[in-house]
Amino acid sequence: MSENICPQCESELSWKDQGYFCDYCQQKVIKTAFCPDCSEQLEKLQACGSASYFCNHCNELKSKSRVKSVFNVVAD
Ligand SMILES: [Zn+2]
Ligand SMILES: [Zn+2]
Repeated sequence: MSENICPQCESELSWKDQGYFCDYCQQKVIKTAFCPDCSEQLEKLQACGSASYFCNHCNELKSKSRVKSVFNVVAD
């Protein structure tokens, strides 16, 4: 089961041009991560090819498996 689901049509998102894309809606979708502890928006850090998330509020790294991800359609 995929976690990358379009917020509009709930179909699975594909990866295109460095971002998520819904083939069905033909729209770009961005993923925003929120802290599981304080609900602040997390900063995405790219390290050694794998992404990790940092919370400026908690001042610590958050495990990717714990972050709350929200998908939003990008209006061009
Ligand atoms: Zn869609
Ligand atoms: Zn936090």
